[in-house]
Amino acid sequence: MANGSGARPLRVLVAGGGIAGQALAFWLTRGGHGVTVVERFPALRATGAQVDLRGQGIEAVERMGLLDAVRGKLVDEAGVAFVDACGRARATIMANTSGQGRQTLTSEYEIMRGDLVRILHDASKDDTEYLFGVSMDAFEQDEQKVVAHFSDGSSAEFDLLVGADGQGSRIRQAILPEGFDPYWRVGIHMAYWFIPRIASDTNVRDTYMVPGGRQIMRRSHNPSETQVYFVMREESEEASVIHREPVERQREFWASRFRDAGWQTARFIDGMQTSPFFYSQEIVQVRTDTWSKGRVVLVGDAAHCASPYSGMGISGGLVGAYVLAGEINRHPGDLPTALARYDSVLRPFVDEIQGEVNPRLLRLGMPMTQRAIDAFLAATALACFLHVPDLAARFSKEDRGGSWQLPENPAPISAV
Ligand SMILES: Cc1cc2nc3c(=O)[nH]c(=O)nc-3n(C[C@H](O)[C@H](O)[C@H](O)COP(=O)(O)OP(=O)(O)OC[C@H]3O[C@@H](n4cnc5c(N)ncnc54)[C@H](O)[C@@H]3O)c2cc1C
Repeated sequence: MANGSGARPLRVLVAGGGIAGQALAFWLTRGGHGVTVVERFPALRATGAQVDLRGQGIEAVERMGLLDAVRGKLVDEAGVAFVDACGRARATIMANTSGQGRQTLTSEYEIMRGDLVRILHDASKDDTEYLFGVSMDAFEQDEQKVVAHFSDGSSAEFDLLVGADGQGSRIRQAILPEGFDPYWRVGIHMAYWFIPRIASDTNVRDTYMVPGGRQIMRRSHNPSETQVYFVMREESEEASVIHREPVERQREFWASRFRDAGWQTARFIDGMQTSPFFYSQEIVQVRTDTWSKGRVVLVGDAAHCASPYSGMGISGGLVGAYVLAGEINRHPGDLPTALARYDSVLRPFVDEIQGEVNPRLLRLGMPMTQRAIDAFLAATALACFLHVPDLAARFSKEDRGGSWQLPENPAPISAV
C-alpha cells in the first residue's frame, strides 16, 4: 500500500506483541509500511487479568473501529465493595453508568487483557508479519539502518526498530545511558491469578484490607472463574527481586505474606497452586526524558508505564501507539522529525496519567493497623451513604488523562 507522501514505505521491526506492539502494527500497516512483530512468547500472549479502558484509550479503540468488538467482550462488574473478615460489605462504590463525568474505581469498559490482545491481533494479523517464539536479543544501528539479531540465530535489516517490550524493556536499557534507573517505585507489590468461581462470588469486586499494609481483591469475570489479587506495601530487596524468580518461589513468597490474613485467604492460596495463570509484579512507573535514539524508539510500557494504579496502563499503550504511528505515517521520509514530534505530542498526556498516581494516597488506602483500617472503612461507609463517590464522579469534568486530545487519525485518508 502506498503511504500517500511519496516517501518509500518503511520496514519496521516491532519487538513485543502485547497491547502497544499490536496497536502500532495496526496503524503502521494502514500507513503502507511493512511491519514485522516478534514476540518472545511461543504463541499469542493472550493472558492477564481484568483491565480497563478509560478516557482517550476508549477513543483510540473507537478510531481503530474496534469499539463494538470490545463491547462484545466487556466484563460485567457492578462496582467495588469493601468487605470485613466475615465478607460483609461495609461500603460499596458502584460504577458510574450515567454516561457523564468520570469513571469510578470500576470503568464502563472492563475487559480481560487476553480478549483485548485477541481483538488487536485479529485486526492486525492480515497485514502484519507475526513471528512467535522469537525474541529480539541485540541490535546495532547506523544512519541508514538497524540490524536486529534474533534468538533463533538469524539477523535482519530494518529502517526502524520499535521496543514494545513492556515494563522491563531491554531495548530501553540499550538506548539509555548506562546505569540509568528508569523506575519510579511506589513500594507496592501485586500478584494475581484465577481460581474456580463459587456461588457467593458476585459481580461486585470485593476488597478486603489486612493489617500490615495488605489488601486482597476478588472479582469474577465469567461463570466459572474468579480473579484473586494480593497487594502489599513492602520495600524490601526480597520483594523487589521475587518477581524475577521461578514461579514456584513467587507462589511461596505470596502465600507466606498472606497466610494469616483471614476472610477467604485459605481458598485463595489453595487455588493459587493450580491456577492456569499467575502474574506477580512490582508497581512501578517508567520515567525517562527520552524515548528514542537514532532509528530505535520505545512505545507503551517500555516508554512510559504508568502502573495499574493510574487506571491508564492499557489506554496509555494504545494512545502511545496511535501517536507514534501518526507521526511516522505523516513523516515517513524524516524519522528524526517523526520521533521528535512523537515525544512532544505525547509527553503532556504521559505526564498527566503518571501524575494521577500519588504514593501517599495509595499508602493511606493500605493501612498498617486494624484501627486505621476500621477508621478507613467507617469514613468510606459514611462517604458512600452520602453518595460522595457517585456525585464526585458524575460532576467531575474529565476522566483520567485530563483534557489532552488525541491528534488526528494516524492513517492517511485513503487507507481508512
Ligand atoms: C502476560 C501479561 C499479563 C498482563 N496482565 C496485566 C493485568 O492483568 N493487568 C494490567 O493492568 N496489566 C497487565 N499487563 C501489562 C499491560 O499489558 C501493559 O501495562 C499495557 O497493556 C501496555 O502494554 P505493552 O504492550 O506496552 O506491554 P506488555 O503488554 O507487557 O507487552 C510486552 C510484550 O513484549 C514481549 N517481549 C518482551 N521482550 C521481548 C523481546 N526481547 N522480543 C520479543 N518480545 C518481547 C512480552 O512477551 C510481551 O508480550 C500484563 C502484561 C503481560 C505481558
